[in-house]
Amino acid sequence: MNSTGSGPAGAPPETPAAREGGSGRFVEVLLPLPLERNYTYAAGPGEGYSLEPGTRVAVPFGKSKLYTGLVLGVHDNPPEAYEPKEIYRVLDETPLVSPGQIRHWRWIAQYYMCTLGEVFRTAVPSVFLLQSETRVVLREGSRPDQEDLDDTEFLILEALEHQPVLSVSEISDIVDRKHVLPILDRMIARKILILQEKLQEGYKPLRARYIRLHPDFEDEEALSELMDSLSRAPKQSGLILHLFQLREGTDKPIRSKALQERSGVSRAILKALIDKGILEEYFLEEDRVTYEGEAPTGNLPELNPGQTEALSGIRLGLDAGRPVLLHGVTSSGKTEVYLRLIKEIVQAGRQVLYLVPEIAITEQLVRRLQRVLGHRVVVFHSRHSMQERAELWYHVQAGQEKASVVLGARSALFLPFADLGLIVVDEEHENTYKQFDPAPRYHARDAAIVLAQQAGARIVLGSATPSIESYHNARSDKYAYVRMDRRYGNVLLPEMELVDLSEQFRKKKMKGHFSERLREEVSAALSERRQIILFQNRRGYAPIVECASCGHAPQCRNCDVSLTYHQHRKELRCHYCGFHRQLETTCEACGNATLDTKGFGTEQVESELAELFPEARCSRMDLDTTRGKHAYGRIIQAFEARETDILVGTQMLTKGLDFRNVGLVGIMNADSLLNFPHFRAHERCYQLLTQVAGRAGRTRERGKVIIQTYNPHHQILKQVSTGSYEEMYADQVYEREQFGYPPALRIIKITFRHREYNRVGDGAAWFAKSLRMHFGKDVLGPEFPPVARIRNQYHKNILLKIRPGQGLAQTKNSIKRIEASFNAISQFRSIRVIYNVDYI
Ligand code: ADP
Ligand code: ZN
Repeated sequence: MNSTGSGPAGAPPETPAAREGGSGRFVEVLLPLPLERNYTYAAGPGEGYSLEPGTRVAVPFGKSKLYTGLVLGVHDNPPEAYEPKEIYRVLDETPLVSPGQIRHWRWIAQYYMCTLGEVFRTAVPSVFLLQSETRVVLREGSRPDQEDLDDTEFLILEALEHQPVLSVSEISDIVDRKHVLPILDRMIARKILILQEKLQEGYKPLRARYIRLHPDFEDEEALSELMDSLSRAPKQSGLILHLFQLREGTDKPIRSKALQERSGVSRAILKALIDKGILEEYFLEEDRVTYEGEAPTGNLPELNPGQTEALSGIRLGLDAGRPVLLHGVTSSGKTEVYLRLIKEIVQAGRQVLYLVPEIAITEQLVRRLQRVLGHRVVVFHSRHSMQERAELWYHVQAGQEKASVVLGARSALFLPFADLGLIVVDEEHENTYKQFDPAPRYHARDAAIVLAQQAGARIVLGSATPSIESYHNARSDKYAYVRMDRRYGNVLLPEMELVDLSEQFRKKKMKGHFSERLREEVSAALSERRQIILFQNRRGYAPIVECASCGHAPQCRNCDVSLTYHQHRKELRCHYCGFHRQLETTCEACGNATLDTKGFGTEQVESELAELFPEARCSRMDLDTTRGKHAYGRIIQAFEARETDILVGTQMLTKGLDFRNVGLVGIMNADSLLNFPHFRAHERCYQLLTQVAGRAGRTRERGKVIIQTYNPHHQILKQVSTGSYEEMYADQVYEREQFGYPPALRIIKITFRHREYNRVGDGAAWFAKSLRMHFGKDVLGPEFPPVARIRNQYHKNILLKIRPGQGLAQTKNSIKRIEASFNAISQFRSIRVIYNVDYI
């Protein structure tokens, strides 16, 4: 989003669909599918419905399928084009989704050019849509072409040929993937699978066992009699004593598990006492999402003058009803400023949404927030189970105190806030805020601005390196702008040093990928007991393996990319589709044993460290080492606790982590960032390097940053090393004006996807030609992207540029009309057309 065009503030008014409640014989139902329209269903014979919008209903759709749909409205107008089917079952007593949410969804669908059904599917935890007990079967007569299936889909198909009926969770186990619902959903959409007969209600509250003394023994006399009678059974009497100890000073129910842990006795002993009628076992519903955390100290630290000034600047902006951009250098104390605002909102009984670009950050941040707000803070993320997400949904909807502050990545935006008072978008420049695939391809920052506006909430965007768009919006007064130039405690920003790699090689000063200067600084930091972060923007051992004799590099069989070597498992992996195989010793093309690795990844940095600094304790943080639910946390906590000296990592390291003792940050190679073929490459390079550098010297003495590069005189690297954000901004804006990129213009990327190379080419060319009739030279392409084939699908892209003043809604309508004609051409119908509005 940018300052040109209408922007979120000027979004066109939504079309008033049948949204009112009330009663009637017909119900407008939204299905969680990419359908261009809603369907009308009928009430059963003799019945009328009085259903509120946002209530879920199970409805038949297609031949024998049942879907969970959402009521949009009730009326008395029968559909003209078809005989309405009856609603199968009403699933909610009270609406699952509020009218406010649907209104926000409509904006997203309209702005990002997708269907409301696609937003519905993303916004609502899948447990509310399909249930894990939902069983699927192969559709009769469907024999899909094997080539049309990816590996997982093929496995599912095979499994269903052996066992005709499988539940979603069984399939999940068979293919060893947690999230098979979207895959199944896609297979359902492609008419390969169907749901077996009924839908069952998915969400069941978890029940936990509790133990209490039978009321008969609550009086003292009976109790002492009991203890006497148990004198020969020391384990049983011991257990009862432990129960009393647990009861001491609290009237909370006692968990059976806690009692067993405390007393160390077996379940058999407990059971014996229950059987004798001395103890009673009972069940209570329990929260799956744990809200514990540290007891709040409640006290906020005094703000320093810079923070105080920033806070009042922010208030001024917010009071004027504007989004605020807080531009504060790394470690200037932005988080402390947010905390002030958050506490006020929570005390006023309203809710706060705190968005972060990556769940890695929540591990640290949640502890920091809980210190002030205690159990009122909760984390929402995709690694929670579906049940957990469902529970949190209800807590947020009910405005429960324990979910006053929700910390989460972009999808937390879709929670059903009862009374949203404030949104904080931390590290607003991060591109992970933009959903890439599947639709809706929304930008969470921009969607949050619209949400705040619709919900009457305030919104603060924060960053040390604002996106060009946000800074542009601040300069053109769309946002209020507040700045913090000093680090907290007046710690100086780290000293940056550029090391010329070609010179180092020439002078034979390199050892592995470490220059002499970097080795010196690592040694110095180690001897001063300060920690070190090494950044390399590639995981794996070496990006490619190449044969020194014939130059052959092993390729993925599904994608047009070279495979990456992972030393740990001695295998080659594709970072696009996950395909992997063993590394052979000889070249598959020429047969010589001359395979060699080129380039390097985090894994190789780690193994070189072991050789160069055998005494140092190292760990690595990248996609490969952080797969488990708690993996991030463990790596981060070990580093915080100084159990590791050196942390090697990819971009994951850059996002807002606050380490106390980092003295040195080393950038192993800045060039891959500079040379990335993208109009944002330089902006991103600036942001990334400034952010990693910001992890150094956050508290005590000044930190040090070593940047290794073949381009030590590159403009961007100079700007990074001198902290010249404005200069970088001016250069970038100038360039983008010259070449027609945001913020000067808006971009819609249109992608065409199909298994056949020629068909994609023909379709994209046809589409581009039609677009050119409307938009002339503002249409770029079609072109194949750098990786033209992914998972056996060829991709081709068109970029459409939209000039300031050119109506966005009108432009989208023209595109949609072209798409309709496109789909009328039979050979193009099977090509997928994908829109990415505000492509970043
Ligand atoms: P940012 O979010 O701008 O990177 P932080 O809020 O993480 O900065 O602050 C950097 C460090 O300084 C943190 O460890 C934080 O606890 C500390 N700090 C910031 N403001 C204060 C304050 N007013 N009093 C005490 N410590 C502070
Ligand atoms: Zn691949």
